[in-house]
Amino acid sequence: MIDTEKLEMILPTVGKPARYTGGELGEVVKPIDGASVRFAFCFPDVYEVGMSHLGTSILYHLLNGMPGVCAERCFAPWPDMEAALRRAELPLYTLETKTALCGFDIVGFSLGYEMCLTNMLAMLDLGRIPMFAKDRTDADPIVIAGGGCVYNPEPMADFIDLFVVGEGEEVLGELLALYKSRKQANAGRGDFLARAAQIEGIYVPSLYVVAYNQDGTVKSIDAKNGAPFPVRKRIIRDFDAAFFPEEPIVPYLGVIHDRVTVEVMRGCTRGCRFCQAGFIYRPVRERSADTLIRQAKACIQKTGHEEVSLCSLSTGDYSQVARLVCVLSDEFKGTGVSLAVPSLRIDSYEGEYAQKLKEVRNTGLTFAPEAGTQRLRDIINKNLTENEIIEAVREAFEAGTNGVKLYFMMGLPGETMDDVLGIAGLAARIRDVYYRVPKEKRSGGFKLTVSVSCFVPKAHTPFQWARQDDMTVFEDKQRRLKDALRRVSGVKFNWHDARLSMLEAVFARGDRRLSAVLVKAYESGCRFDSWKELFDFDKWLRAFEETGIDPAFYASRERGRDETMPWDMIDTGVSKAYLWKEYERSQAQSTTPDCRKGCTGCGLREAGLCV
Ligand code: SF4
Repeated sequence: MIDTEKLEMILPTVGKPARYTGGELGEVVKPIDGASVRFAFCFPDVYEVGMSHLGTSILYHLLNGMPGVCAERCFAPWPDMEAALRRAELPLYTLETKTALCGFDIVGFSLGYEMCLTNMLAMLDLGRIPMFAKDRTDADPIVIAGGGCVYNPEPMADFIDLFVVGEGEEVLGELLALYKSRKQANAGRGDFLARAAQIEGIYVPSLYVVAYNQDGTVKSIDAKNGAPFPVRKRIIRDFDAAFFPEEPIVPYLGVIHDRVTVEVMRGCTRGCRFCQAGFIYRPVRERSADTLIRQAKACIQKTGHEEVSLCSLSTGDYSQVARLVCVLSDEFKGTGVSLAVPSLRIDSYEGEYAQKLKEVRNTGLTFAPEAGTQRLRDIINKNLTENEIIEAVREAFEAGTNGVKLYFMMGLPGETMDDVLGIAGLAARIRDVYYRVPKEKRSGGFKLTVSVSCFVPKAHTPFQWARQDDMTVFEDKQRRLKDALRRVSGVKFNWHDARLSMLEAVFARGDRRLSAVLVKAYESGCRFDSWKELFDFDKWLRAFEETGIDPAFYASRERGRDETMPWDMIDTGVSKAYLWKEYERSQAQSTTPDCRKGCTGCGLREAGLCV
């Protein structure tokens, strides 16, 4: 345990001290000294973000339910707390028992976003764990990582001892059992890592040697000491029976998603070509409506939250969505509990439950057409027509919704300026739809939020070979769209920082050499890079310059079909040949149907992952 007297002295000096105290309703505190495996869950962002992360909540409660396992939480300290910890010479600690990170057996990071990596380094350093895996001894924790970023683990390869590829619920039990047995046998970390590499879904980067060509591309990736190649992801097969915490922690602070979240399904069958989640989390597996209703009711009863969110990549595609929405809205009617259905596709938004949503205090609707023209929607395989968009929005307006949010992307492969300005054209037509709805049915004034992000090509998608637009091109497109949207009254325009998207693109498809850039950026003070107020692009540019690494090599270079990708050791079950075929189909503006209507041969079936 750290010096809690010192901690009590510094907490009143930092902002939002409740971020660092623990003690919430639902927290699990087990006797750490007697535990056979002490596990620290590290979330490389602030408490309010981490406490909204469903994956962390699931694994925290799952692990604490295992005999002999003690799992605790740690979030990235905000810069004022980091400075205070350093001044007081206190290590970073877990909320439950105030134990320093270096005092754990396993320290596990959830890596969901590329721009959290400098926070991960800060947490290791503050937790008194050597930053580089090669510098750790048997006295140090095993550092592991899971989450969406591990599908290209290479930029983190020098810092992480092992990656969990796929669904943690499926792998962690086996991994912890191995750890326990090796600990009892007094085996060293090398022995443990070599054995762990034999568990399906575990990637131990130190067991793989990467060689490069003269032009900087990857020449080869070779597995050592019998480590598998490739490493196949693990999935839960019976999702209805999968563990779900019905007594989640109730955060002290207003967190990002201050509500109960139930997970209706995993995976998505739509095949949008830009969407990494759509490919890495395949195949679709659903929970039954009865299970979800039970879980939602139990969580509301245990926590006192006032909102239930039905979460998945595309909740409108859930086979029992209408029943689920109707039963839950009736259940919570008059109780002050509202229902949120994020990730709703426009074409799945139907009147039947649109009205139900309104009844349970739903405040607005969010859709993601992604592109402003049909041509570009076909290129990205959005499989959505303008007519469907207009009809769905009209229905929403007629159901009394006035606040609609639309999400788009800019810089998609094959995009022209007509496609960019097409977003403004669509916004104008949506405004016209609103004013054609009879006055008595409308509520409030017309409000449309258009949010446009910058396209980031991701590993394991058909666009993994594509280049990203240069920052100046993004900025020009943003300016032109802003001008065009000014002419559509009632529209609010949000856009992403192109500089941040460029960095995201570098790390999303980067290799091991980027660890040098990460360390430099960390040393120069980069933290919370996705937070506008803390993002310092100049520091990043200096980090690239000082390490002699050109970010454009990673972000704005189109790859050749046969190029070895840095992440080729990771096997999602979707074949590279299928992804390439989809890339070619995108260039031909040819769409691929939803595979629920018929298997399109992505490779998962052959891999035994889809039945
Ligand atoms: S194997 Fe077929 S049905 Fe299964 S996810 Fe792939 S395309 Fe869809």
